[in-house]
Amino acid sequence: MSPVHFEDKCLFCKIIQKKIPSKIVYEDESALAFEDISPQAPVHLLIIPKTHIPRLADINAGDEKQLAHLFTIVRKLAEEKNILESGFRTVINSGEEAGQTVFHLHVHLMGGRAFHWPPG
Ligand code: 5GP
Ligand code: ZN
Repeated sequence: MSPVHFEDKCLFCKIIQKKIPSKIVYEDESALAFEDISPQAPVHLLIIPKTHIPRLADINAGDEKQLAHLFTIVRKLAEEKNILESGFRTVINSGEEAGQTVFHLHVHLMGGRAFHWPPG
C-alpha cells in the first residue's frame, strides 16, 4: 500500500487524524469507516482511504489495491449492519456536478430502507 499522506485543509484527513471527532466503525492502517453526520438512510457509513485522494477522477493504477480494500470493508460492514442480504447501496460522487462536497475520496454505504432508481 502507498504511504499515507494528509492534506492540511481536508475535513476527512482531519477525521483520520482524530482532530475532528467522528463515530468510527472500522479502522486499519490504510482505511477508515465512520458514520455520516447527516445520514440519508438508517445505515449510512463513509469508507475512506487514509491517504488523501481528492476524487475518484484522481485515482491511478497504483491505487488498485487500496480501492479493492475499500470494497472489502464495505462488504464486511454491510454484513455487520445486517444489510448484506436485504440490499445496500454504494455511491461515490466524483466532482461538483455529481454532488461531491468533500474532496477526499469516499464510498457511501447506505442501507436499511428501499432505494429508487434513477437516483436523481
Ligand atoms: P459527498 O457529498 O462529498 O459525496 O459526501 C460527503 C458526505 O460527508 C455527506 O454525506 C456529509 O453528510 C458528510 N459529512 C460532511 N461533513 C462531515 C463531518 O464533519 N463528519 C461526518 N461524519 N460526515 C460529514
Ligand atoms: Zn483528505
